Amino acid sequence: MTDPHRGYTTEPTHSVRSLEVVGRADLPGAVSWARTSRRVRLRQLVPFVLLGLLSVSLAVIPETDRDRAVWLWPAGILLITSGFQMVLMPWHRLHSLWRHAPVATFCIGVLLLREIDSQGTTGFGVLLLLPIIWQAIYGSRMDLAIAFAQITAVLVVPVLVLDGYPIRHEIPRTMLLLAVAAALGTVMRTLIGTVRDHNRAMQTVVTVSRLLHSAVDPMGVFAAGVRSLTGADAVTVFRADTGDHRGLQTAVVATPGPEPLVSQLMTPDRGHERDLASTWFLEPLLTQGEVVYESRPPSLDAPTAQWPAEVAARLVVPIGSFGSPIGLAEATWTGRPRRPSRFEQSALVLLGIDVGRALERVEEMEVLDDQAHRDGLTGLPNRRAWDDLIDHELDTAHRLHRDLAVAVIDLDHFKAYNDRHGHLAGDDLLRRAAEVWSGALRGVDILARWGGEEFVLALPGTSLEEAERVLQRLQAITPEGQSFSAGVTGLTADDDAEQVVAAADAAMYQAKAAGRNRVVSSRR
Ligand code: GH3
Ligand code: MG
Ligand code: MG
Repeated sequence: MTDPHRGYTTEPTHSVRSLEVVGRADLPGAVSWARTSRRVRLRQLVPFVLLGLLSVSLAVIPETDRDRAVWLWPAGILLITSGFQMVLMPWHRLHSLWRHAPVATFCIGVLLLREIDSQGTTGFGVLLLLPIIWQAIYGSRMDLAIAFAQITAVLVVPVLVLDGYPIRHEIPRTMLLLAVAAALGTVMRTLIGTVRDHNRAMQTVVTVSRLLHSAVDPMGVFAAGVRSLTGADAVTVFRADTGDHRGLQTAVVATPGPEPLVSQLMTPDRGHERDLASTWFLEPLLTQGEVVYESRPPSLDAPTAQWPAEVAARLVVPIGSFGSPIGLAEATWTGRPRRPSRFEQSALVLLGIDVGRALERVEEMEVLDDQAHRDGLTGLPNRRAWDDLIDHELDTAHRLHRDLAVAVIDLDHFKAYNDRHGHLAGDDLLRRAAEVWSGALRGVDILARWGGEEFVLALPGTSLEEAERVLQRLQAITPEGQSFSAGVTGLTADDDAEQVVAAADAAMYQAKAAGRNRVVSSRR
């Protein structure tokens, strides 16, 4: 829906919705290693497999207790089996609980390996860090927690239930190992989380950037991008008023939600109207091309114009190049706000610059398009625009079996008018005639400048008799008592645009021949 006063769509557009989907899509491997392909999993496993093989071979080298060496083979087989499980099991068809089977197999393998060590200590226990590292990198938070529980069980249960463990020594070492595993898992998880967030932000930037370059609605795409990056509840994008650069034009709201702050400030009937150009735009940070994030001041108990009751935090992104923003996006949170990371803020700045360029491109295109289709003197559609418009009208009239009257209007003795009053006065008369005629016609009628002092007129849903009366009316209101000759015709079943205009033109020449200052109908 386009609001002519605002000039931009005021409802979420198709592009806005589709971007939501892009923004929320899972990245490969971001949720669980089980979702990745076999080949990827195999590649990811390589360092882990090498460590497993190394540990089994190291177990052979020292002089092993002969009784205990029998555990070596089953231990090795279990370690290898866990690798095969990882790669070969059809994870997408299995219940998610099965995802923990390889870790369990691996842990039992390590347990047996420990048995070889005649000291009965945790020498090989350090291998239990491998599932933690694996799940921290490739698994979900839940996968990591369950892996931790599994290694805890493997470390603690034998100490408690099996004879032969010197409990006094073993318990502190076990605790230490678990503490290291927990710290390692958490740190890696955070690190990987950051990398993933960056990855996601980067993907959003790429998607939005790509869409921006072909979008007819850059503000909508940008709004969706900001929402996707920030997770805000609502995003509104504002374009500075291109006329006098004093106000802001409301534009696109990316999501239904609380009415964003800026639009409230702009709405005159709320009594909050402010000259936003002199406040927001001069915000030093905005003009430096930075993102501004503010959360609701805790001291505030009553809602204010700046902080309506429902807004918990807001973020403002400048649009355009550094130093001269041409608009802004405002993201607001009603629930729990989340301050975007520095990386996300940089991504937002980048998108702000990009959308600025896209907006300027679209606006330039609109200007060019307008120039190409509008007559410079009268502001009426020109002949090129007429060709498109009349085709459409003919189509509709044929399809719905509706009347369509087409007229050609030619000012009488206009050369003489120019000679008498000068060309500039002639121009002025053409301009004023176009203006008063347009004012007397309906919105659906099409008046175009055909060239020189000739005009064409299409009157949808109008019979030939009614069209004659319309033309008489136009004749009466033409400025300076200037007359015209007009030919008008209706539509026949197989008319195309050229034929119908030719018929009206021929009728116009009859009007000239019959003494001018009249309307001649062509009944075909
Ligand atoms: P007729 O009644 O036979 O139509 O006579 P006419 O003088 O109107 O027709 P003619 O075709 O001989 O001349 C058309 C004139 O319209 C010539 C030109 O001076 C004038 N004219 C065409 N375009 C413009 C324009 O853009 N501005 C001005 N001022 N005059 C124009
Ligand atoms: Mg003429
Ligand atoms: Mg003429």
